[in-house]
Amino acid sequence: MSDFDYESLLDRARDKIPDDISNRSRWKLPEPDVLIEGSQTILRNFSELISMMDRDADHVYQFLQNELGTSASREKGRILLKGRIPPRRIKEKIVSYVKMYILCQQCNAPDTSFIKEDRTTLLKCQACGATRPVKL
Ligand SMILES: [Zn+2]
Repeated sequence: MSDFDYESLLDRARDKIPDDISNRSRWKLPEPDVLIEGSQTILRNFSELISMMDRDADHVYQFLQNELGTSASREKGRILLKGRIPPRRIKEKIVSYVKMYILCQQCNAPDTSFIKEDRTTLLKCQACGATRPVKL
């Protein structure tokens, strides 16, 4: 991941979306606003990210802690993570979340939602109708 670039990764995903869908959704994720302060790392625009992602804040919060291997606390719209975490690692994890829990694997549209079927949770795409199981 040395040449990781948040924008190009998301752009690449968006490029694969047929025009009509991508225009309809006009989905753009804000750049994570990260501030390293002493021995903690603050994700300042967490609530803004969540509202664009349209996912459960607790789920994203847990995911970030697990993936970054640290504990955190929430304060208003921000997340305070223990340790000094390079901003690009946080971006990487956000992109992982987007790929895992938001983008449709068939058409790459971000217009998806979780649906429950028996005991499995599926990610259902509103654009093409595809579903795939996700682990929450
Ligand atoms: Zn789709």
